[in-house]
Parts: sequence; structure tokens; C-alpha cells
Amino acid sequence: MYSVIQCDTEMLKKYDIAGPRYTSYPTAIQFSPQFTEADYRQEIEASNQSSKPLSLYFHIPFCSSLCFFCACNKIITHTKARSIPYLERLHKEIALQAELISASRQVNQLHFGGGTPTFISDEQLYQLLQVTGQHFNLAPVDKREFSIEVDPRAVRPETIPMLREFGFNRISFGVQDLDEKVQEAVNRKQSLEQNMEVVETARSAGYQSINMDIIYGLPHQTLDSFSHTLDVVISMRPERLAIYNYAHLPHRIKAQKLIKQKDLPSPVTKLALLELTINRLQEAGYVFIGMDHFALPEDELVKAMEQGTLQRNFQGYSTHADTDMVGMGMTSIGKTDNCYSQNQRYEKAYFQAIDDNKLAIMQGYQLTPDDKLRREVIQHIMCEGIVDFPRLDQMFGIEFTHYFAEELRLLKPMEEDALVQVGDQSITVLPFGRLLLRNIAMVFDLYRPRYITDQLFSRVI
Ligand code: SF4
Repeated sequence: MYSVIQCDTEMLKKYDIAGPRYTSYPTAIQFSPQFTEADYRQEIEASNQSSKPLSLYFHIPFCSSLCFFCACNKIITHTKARSIPYLERLHKEIALQAELISASRQVNQLHFGGGTPTFISDEQLYQLLQVTGQHFNLAPVDKREFSIEVDPRAVRPETIPMLREFGFNRISFGVQDLDEKVQEAVNRKQSLEQNMEVVETARSAGYQSINMDIIYGLPHQTLDSFSHTLDVVISMRPERLAIYNYAHLPHRIKAQKLIKQKDLPSPVTKLALLELTINRLQEAGYVFIGMDHFALPEDELVKAMEQGTLQRNFQGYSTHADTDMVGMGMTSIGKTDNCYSQNQRYEKAYFQAIDDNKLAIMQGYQLTPDDKLRREVIQHIMCEGIVDFPRLDQMFGIEFTHYFAEELRLLKPMEEDALVQVGDQSITVLPFGRLLLRNIAMVFDLYRPRYITDQLFSRVI
């Protein structure tokens, strides 16, 4: 049975600070341009020894219109032909990356993200997958987790069943909010019919899991309006729901300057929206996975949570343990045991690198032994909710209570506030603490003093 989380508004307020989402540790702000293509090549070669399976990510950056809240790296254009030179480079990058990777390593996870992957034509999507299959060893259909982000406003009716035939078994729809006034304020008009149609099509096409992305904290959202959005979304029964907190950072994200501060819900309303969401989704039978993710009990994400195999990566929570990630396309991020690497952010630099037969590495990070230990601890907090000291002592040759004496001291107030329970052998995240995983994880983050400026990350609530 899953523990139901009771909200405590005062306590949420107390812990509403800025902090990372820990899709990686260390976080991307530690990445440095001193990490070069040569470093990446060396790390990939070393990772081949492990024969770990792979997770591939492809970034398709194009969108037909700008959503004002969006922090993704995207190119807004109506010109479909813009994608042709980009895909030429992407195909070449696939070949360049595959040359480095042992053919015995199977790709059991693949994700098309963006931007809007379905901005490109069905033919281009097909080619992209074909080229990937020519260069990488794709897992058999029953062992795959292939997913794609789909914009219900910009998808052709035949594309959803076609992608299923290509082997995609998970699909994610960006919904955000159903209220017209909210949609207008963020420049994303999307009718209920459009949303219902894509969900029905995905169901008939036989996708194993449908995800919907919703955002709370958008301009003009009220408890009434958001309650309606939640009711409608719940009635469509997506297996997974990602309910993101809108982070208003106009000094860093230019598009957000188009959102008026005065239209945003107050911090009190935002908290109430979060509380409403948690209560409403739990009442409707959804299980809270962690951070901003919910899933129906029969979904694999819940099973992975029960079995302790849940993982956190750049796409949020995942069921596939222990893969190395290869990111392709602008801005995408890769990961091996020892490093993170990130591609060029801008099209021009990305094209230039690929045209010069180079990988488009812009920056990266080589993990120290301490980083790896802390990554493991943070992963256990975010995914399992338990940090088992003897297990980590054995894995890393440390004495946990001695190594993390200061961190255990910093956890004391959280223990008093019933976020965690600290025993002689373990730390257990308590039900309410699961709402504040970032705060708990931050205690173990060596680089946290850098975050205090409040400008680097969104707030927790
Ligand atoms: S939210 Fe999606 S569709 Fe909108 S601009 Fe961002 S990437 Fe494009």
C-alpha cells in the first residue's frame, strides 16, 4: 500500500527555497568547457568495458510557436525546411557517436525530445529511427522503452499510430493548462478536443504508457480553474502525470519576460495549487512517485519504485536502471559512470563541429570519487527514499556516519519536522518529506553554497 501524503502548508512555506531538480549530480552548473571532445572519447572508451546498456536522447529543437513559460532550447520557425540541414547533421552525429561505442551495447531506452519532435515529417522521423538502427544495436521490441514528446496542437493524425509501428511504446503530451485565459497569457492555445483526440488515438494505437505534462503556477491560474484542468486530465486517465512547478526566471529565460509578474498566482495560491494537485491526484488513485511525478499503480514507474529500481535522469524518473546516456543534437546531455558531457547549445556551433567531423561537445564534467558517492546518496533519496549506510560503506569503502557527520547534523531540523527519520543504519524519507526531496538531497550536495544566490535554480514549491 502506498502512503498518502498529507500537506502541511506552513511546513511547505518553511522549505520553499531555490534548489536543483537533481536530474544529475553534480548539476549542469558545474559543467565546464575544460572538458573536451578528447576527454569524452576517453570516457566512452572506458565505459565500453562495462558493456552497460545505452539510453539515447535526440533533441529536435523546432517549434512553430513560442510558449512564454518555456525554458527548453528551441528554434521557433514556420519553415519546415529548417529541419533538413539539422537532420543531416544529426544523422552524421549518430554515425560519429556509434563509431566510439561497442556494438555489443544494446540500446534499451530511446527518447525524442525537444522542441517539438513531431515538427519534422513522418518520413523524417522514420529516417531518423532507421539511421539510428543502422548504427546502434537496438533492443528487441519487448525490451525497449522508446518514448517521444508530442505536441497535441502540432501532430498529424497518422503520426501517433505510425510511431507505435516504428517501435515507440511511450508517448508524452504537453497539456500545461486547459483554461483559455491561462492559455492566452502563455501563448499556447490548445483545445480540449485536441487533447482528447490524441489520447484516444494513442490508446487505440496500443501505447503502453501515456504521460501528460501539466504546469502549476502559470499566470491567471486560480484554484477553480486549475481544479477544472485536473478533473478533465484525470478523466482521460493517463498512466503518468508530470505536474511541474512554473519557475519564473525572466532574467535567465528571455521568453518569460512576456509573462507579467502581476498575473502570476501569489505564493499562497501557488501552495494551495500544489496541495490541491496532490490531494486530487491521490484521491483519483495516482501514486506520488517523487518530485513532480505521479503514476497509476499498474504503471511500470510504480513497479520500479516498489522494487527499488527507479532511476532519476535528465528526463525525470525512469524505470531503466544503470544505462549510459548518449545525447545527440543541440544542447543534449550524455552520461557515463565517470562523466557528463553536453553538446553545443546553438545551431551554428553545432553544425560547425559536425561539419568538421567532430563531436559537438561544448562542456562537461569528470566526476571525482566524492561526486560519485554523493550522486549515489542523492539517487537513493530521490528514488528509493532510503539511504542504507552499510550498503554505501561497502560500495565506497567509507564509514557513512563518519564521512557524512556534518550532513547528518544538518538533517536534524528535518528530522524534527518529520521529513526524514535518521537511524543508526539508515536515513528514511518520511511521507511528507517526499514532497521536499530536493531539500533533503541538497544537504548532501557539496556545491550547495553556490545555490544560495536564488538565481541559479527555481524554488522548490
Ligand atoms: S513548451 Fe514545447 S512547444 Fe512550447 S516552446 Fe517549449 S518546446 Fe516548444
